[in-house]
Amino acid sequence: MTEDDTQTFDSIVYYDDDADSEAIAHKTVAVLGYGSQGHAHAQNLADSGVDVVVGLREGSSSREAAEGDGLRVATPADAVAEADIVSVLVPDTVQPDVYENAIEPNLEAGDTLQFAHGFNIHYNQIQPPEDVDVTMVAPKSPGHLVRRNYENDQGTPGLLAVYQDATGEAHDEGLAYAAAIGCTRAGVVETSFREETETDLFGEQAVLCGGVTSLVKQGYETLVDAGYSPEMAYFECLNELKLIVDLMYEDGLGGMWDSVSDTAEYGGLTQGDVVVDEHARENMEEILEKVQNGQFAREWIAENQAGRPSYTQLRTAEKNHEIEEVGEELRGLFAWQEEEDEDETAEVKA
Ligand code: NAD
Ligand code: MG
Repeated sequence: MTEDDTQTFDSIVYYDDDADSEAIAHKTVAVLGYGSQGHAHAQNLADSGVDVVVGLREGSSSREAAEGDGLRVATPADAVAEADIVSVLVPDTVQPDVYENAIEPNLEAGDTLQFAHGFNIHYNQIQPPEDVDVTMVAPKSPGHLVRRNYENDQGTPGLLAVYQDATGEAHDEGLAYAAAIGCTRAGVVETSFREETETDLFGEQAVLCGGVTSLVKQGYETLVDAGYSPEMAYFECLNELKLIVDLMYEDGLGGMWDSVSDTAEYGGLTQGDVVVDEHARENMEEILEKVQNGQFAREWIAENQAGRPSYTQLRTAEKNHEIEEVGEELRGLFAWQEEEDEDETAEVKA
């Protein structure tokens, strides 16, 4: 069975009680990569009693770290050959290469390919054989939190998706994997590879990474160009963003509106849509279309194949933006002030 792209999935949330650890208890998981997600999945799985082998290249600097954490390490090819479940946690841009060289030749019928992001499957950069399961367990959090939460008996919310169910057990096994890394403690939402990939790309481009940084830079430049000090512009357009986002994260938009002054609320409610207007909305729809029709994926793949020329240029330009220089200076001052505050507290306590 292959997922139907036009199907919409009802959102179902799974918790610990919905998962049966037996579905993974007697299996060996090869965790390929020991970066942000890899180190967290590998250690959480192992602490949950699952047999784990970490797949890393000879000479990889991560080998020492994985062994230091008490894990067994093998080459990616050997790890895959040994494993029932292959958790692909190398960077998305190197996954097709690792798949071709280390995974595909060592996959057996009934094995599972497990991902934390759907890009390569959804855009056909990896085309698995029909006799393996293809699942996704994607924690909605950076890896160090996935690990820290697990160690503190807390959970990390996550997504579960089944792209291909050759054995009939893909769903139960995916849920057991999610439980073993601590996700069902917090809640796991069922989705599809398509939905996860497209919403993830759209979100990071239009809102989270792209939209927000552009909003910050344009606001900063507007103030500085009008003659205000770069320091004030930095505080107003970047530094205070965290306070606002924290309020929205804790209690939604309403929680934020309740906490700011009436003046801020009235001004914000009347002017927000002036900045992000219908034109911005049309641009968002275009961004979504390029995600949906694969244009963005093709562009990004070609960019990598060409050695990342535009990416490198854009990165440099972003690094050299004046706001970065001003920010570094001011954050240095904050750190110095914080240290002084701590010293004062220490003195009071003493
Ligand atoms: P990462 O960049 O932190 O780590 C990748 C690891 O892969 C490296 O530490 C290294 O051990 C290994 N590696 C790098 N190049 C390699 C190569 N050529 N061959 C073999 N091994 C190599 O990656 P990450 O951020 O943990 O991402 C892994 C997956 O998890 C991706 O699919 C990503 O989309 C997904 N994901 C990441 C996050 C996150 O917060 N970082 C969150 C959810 C999902
Ligand atoms: Mg195998």
